[in-house]
Amino acid sequence: MAVTFRDYYETLGVPRDADEKKIKAAYRKLARKWHPDLHTGKDKERAEEKFKEINEAYEVLSDTDKRAKYDRLGSNWRNGDQFDPGDMGSTHYYSGDFNSADFQGFSDFFASIFGSSKPGHRGASTFYDGPMRGQDVESEIELTLEEAYHGGNKSLRLSAGKVCGECHGRGIVGRTICTICGGTGSVPTLRNIEVKIPAGIKEGSTIRLKGQGGEGSGGGPSGDLYLKVRLLPHAQFTVEGKDIEYPLNLRPDQAVLGDKVMVPTLDGSVRVTIPPGTPAGRRLRLKGKGLPGRQGDNGDQYVKININIATDIKEEEKELYRQIRAIYEK
Ligand SMILES: [Zn+2]
Repeated sequence: MAVTFRDYYETLGVPRDADEKKIKAAYRKLARKWHPDLHTGKDKERAEEKFKEINEAYEVLSDTDKRAKYDRLGSNWRNGDQFDPGDMGSTHYYSGDFNSADFQGFSDFFASIFGSSKPGHRGASTFYDGPMRGQDVESEIELTLEEAYHGGNKSLRLSAGKVCGECHGRGIVGRTICTICGGTGSVPTLRNIEVKIPAGIKEGSTIRLKGQGGEGSGGGPSGDLYLKVRLLPHAQFTVEGKDIEYPLNLRPDQAVLGDKVMVPTLDGSVRVTIPPGTPAGRRLRLKGKGLPGRQGDNGDQYVKININIATDIKEEEKELYRQIRAIYEK
């Protein structure tokens, strides 16, 4: 049952706390060095072996879940040690009967931890020539508050990876690194996409567009596109969850005597009653005038009262204020 332990960090020559960027850089450097197409004769065999090891290490260390699982094995193991996967209580331990064609050259050690899964779509594309699903792409979409409130369609210009036409995603032309894509197998392309915005979408929500991510290779399906919603600042409203707030400037007389004023909402203007004696800072609630909730539980709009002290008032007004003061100074 024991398999040979593989130190993936050692394979890529990175420390155990290396971040994603460092791992990717190390992988790219090594993958270029050991790409089998760049070697001949006896060298080629060794390069193929190395290339497989590098891809396997990258498959694990570039994937947060796989890396965490691998890291749980601890650092007590050294490259080449006999390792019994039964020790780690994994449900995916090596049963010895999987078909080697299932996992495209990954080691028994890999299979003992992660099962006989195929290599993922990340990074290994220069190695594996069969159908590969394209990368999932994450990006952002900026929406005005009105767009988020009403929903609808929006076109978006997006840069996405397209399979390199020069090397067909292999990263190699003949025996040299593809100059068009620099060996990555994909080139950034600008394209327009139409995004359907659900009404009432919130800041930080994600819109998934199936099949709009990176192109697959070898006839594989495209990845998905995930758009994270960013709400643009609004000139009048501030947003807090489902609720919105609108600052309303009142003259002192409106605050003291009360009034009826028109207040904008995302759904048109409404008439709001200001009760007599409304102090600055009070928030008047307009029920259901916030962002739509999923089950009709809409947010509210709050009208926050500011009292506006004008500096350029008429002599007539000043005279009235003097009369008010006289009442208090009696
Ligand atoms: Zn290319």
